[in-house]
Amino acid sequence: MEKVAHGVTQLTIQRFVNLYFVETSDPSRWVLVDTGLPGSAKTIIAAADELFYPGSHPEAILLTHGHMDHAGSAQELAEHWKVPIIAHPLELPFLMGKAVYPPADPTVENGGSLAFVSRFFPPQSFQLTDYIQALPTEDSEPPFLPGWQWLHVPGHAPGQVALFRPEDKTLLGADAFATANHESVPSLLLQKPQISVAGAPFNYDWESVHASVVELSNLEPQAIGCGHGPVIKGPEAAAGLTALAQSFPTPKHGRYVSESARIDADGVQYLPPMPQDKLPQQAAIVGAATVALIVTAALLMNSKKKKATKPAYTDVRHGFTRLTRTGREERGTDEVDYDE
Ligand SMILES: [Zn+2]
Ligand SMILES: [Zn+2]
Repeated sequence: MEKVAHGVTQLTIQRFVNLYFVETSDPSRWVLVDTGLPGSAKTIIAAADELFYPGSHPEAILLTHGHMDHAGSAQELAEHWKVPIIAHPLELPFLMGKAVYPPADPTVENGGSLAFVSRFFPPQSFQLTDYIQALPTEDSEPPFLPGWQWLHVPGHAPGQVALFRPEDKTLLGADAFATANHESVPSLLLQKPQISVAGAPFNYDWESVHASVVELSNLEPQAIGCGHGPVIKGPEAAAGLTALAQSFPTPKHGRYVSESARIDADGVQYLPPMPQDKLPQQAAIVGAATVALIVTAALLMNSKKKKATKPAYTDVRHGFTRLTRTGREERGTDEVDYDE
């Protein structure tokens, strides 16, 4: 665990996913920000017991967005602690099994090894209806966290939020950007500090991603903790984010570059057509198997033989699009306006 700032602690799980314990102004009361991949609950509970006291529980779980690596253990933790899960209203369709996120874009320029493996991620959504509560959007202060502000930073996920504490300029940036090169799986695993674009294959609206980075850089943060990458503190934090905002590397090509996906409170309403994915499928399978082996080996080395629990997410790909053997998307029984 690493301290980001007073009362803010980062926990890194499986080497590349971060979540945060954020204390309220009341001693021993806290909020959990994000929950890691499915199967992370035991590790998170053990860390909370160590950080606070055995049997301690948060006031709530706040999700920066509903991607699998952030909402993966939300249900198990909410059940265990009997606490609500709070997310921005625009994330709710994806957290209540009503919609799936836009498909990842493996063709995005400079998508690196993450784009490569994203070909094999199914479109995803969770069913957290029993615990979910909408973040009250009329108040810029998140529930239970006096002194903090939440900021809507879409582009990577429609209802993604970042958290900022003006008093000491602490920023929890979610996946609005990353503090390690997110496009390179090896760089992520090595946790080399580098403020960069987060999750390029999952960014469905590049203009909004850039606007979100600009908005966060204007805050001139002094300490940064993101969904992926190490904590960055001191002058490098604001300088790195300003540099990213000023020379933002919008990809030259990709599914969501010239046109974005359109998403509203009911889910995805429009997807731009998928560009031709030139990577031969056979090479992709061999490559993915190699990457999977490397990642699995790294995770196994790090997991200390923890027993994984059943994933708590619902795969609803059958109501959407899926990849065929030739790597093309095939329409399911979806309501999405999908033009080939
Ligand atoms: Zn994400
Ligand atoms: Zn993420």
